[in-house]
Amino acid sequence: MTNSAAPQSTPISACRSCGSMHLSIVLDLGRQPLANALLTGDELTKPEPVFPLEVVVCEACGLAQVGETIPPAVLFGKDYPYFSSFIPSLVEHSRKHAQELMEEFSLGRNDLVVEVASNDGYLLKNFVEAGIPTLGIDPAAGPGSAAVAAGVPTRTAYFGATIARELAAQGYRPKVMLANNVLAHVSDINDFVAGFAIMVADDGIIEFEFPYVRDLVDRCAFDTIYHEHVFYYSLAALEPLFLRHGLYLVDVMRLEIHGGSLRLRVGKMPVKSERLKALQEEERVAGVGRVTYFRDFACRVERVRRELRDMLGTYRQEGRSIAAYGAAAKGATLLNFLALPEETISFVVDRNAHKVGKYMPGVRLPIRDVSEIRRTQPDYLLILTWNFADEVVEQQRDYRDAGGTFLCPIPTPHVL
Ligand SMILES: [Zn+2]
Repeated sequence: MTNSAAPQSTPISACRSCGSMHLSIVLDLGRQPLANALLTGDELTKPEPVFPLEVVVCEACGLAQVGETIPPAVLFGKDYPYFSSFIPSLVEHSRKHAQELMEEFSLGRNDLVVEVASNDGYLLKNFVEAGIPTLGIDPAAGPGSAAVAAGVPTRTAYFGATIARELAAQGYRPKVMLANNVLAHVSDINDFVAGFAIMVADDGIIEFEFPYVRDLVDRCAFDTIYHEHVFYYSLAALEPLFLRHGLYLVDVMRLEIHGGSLRLRVGKMPVKSERLKALQEEERVAGVGRVTYFRDFACRVERVRRELRDMLGTYRQEGRSIAAYGAAAKGATLLNFLALPEETISFVVDRNAHKVGKYMPGVRLPIRDVSEIRRTQPDYLLILTWNFADEVVEQQRDYRDAGGTFLCPIPTPHVL
């Protein structure tokens, strides 16, 4: 027997949504490890799989997507260390959202709210506290158990047409379905969307939150691209996807969260809000559904890399120390794409105890507790989770008071 071969990815030959074979590469981030696959100390001696990371755009439906498919056993094989309750602004964002929905639909004991990718129950617990029946569905057992312990009923499963049919047959016909930061992560997107169409009540609505491709391009937020994040959506690309399953775009809001997101409402009635029509018109004018929209994106990404490498290199030559904040997937994409000389950055800190003691994939920087900032007082702190930069600066006020300087990599590298 030889050693088992390194896992392989397969380039897609057709658009995951519409099936067109006309795909154009718009960005190539090189070969990258899986951005969420933090390494333990033991794993440092073993080889780490890397896969091409390219974004392709479908010339037929305009959907931007990762150009490689990674076997699910590899992609989801590792413990997923993301517990939403660790992010205070996300918890507050969700509390408000839940409150708005309860008021708008006068939700009560006879209604049902179902959330797909419910994580540790951080959103549904707002409905539970108000006495509204809920069900969470999430494939990750760790956060799912935390949800159940917090009083949020949760099924451990991948959502799709099969489980939707099963639950609908058991009488689960939700008035409200929610799915935040998951629509972009599910490769079999037609099966996933079909599940919502099967399960939601005829007069029900479904709300999705996901990063908006225009914010990605405008803010040059290329670090939000990683293998697990399969799709980069516009309304132009989403409308044909939902229509295929009998669902209509109903309303939309732009949100600042996660570096610029959309909250999209869909339902079974073809009624569009004025602001949805307005945003669709903006997209049409900007040509968002076309490949040409991405024309200069790759050049701007390359410029961020060059400027950030120069900036950090200069600091190191001056004998300054640099640490990074936030062991998130986007940090892994950024650091691996930068390919800095060794020892440019000393370590990464994170508030999530599940991440502390592990190593960033690829670049293998150690992840330490946030208290390490106060203990070592590095000259510069590069905020990898720049979407929560205000929160980080507020939490780490002592660091700045003691003479530390915050750096933000996006949209162009700058001092905060
Ligand atoms: Zn397509």
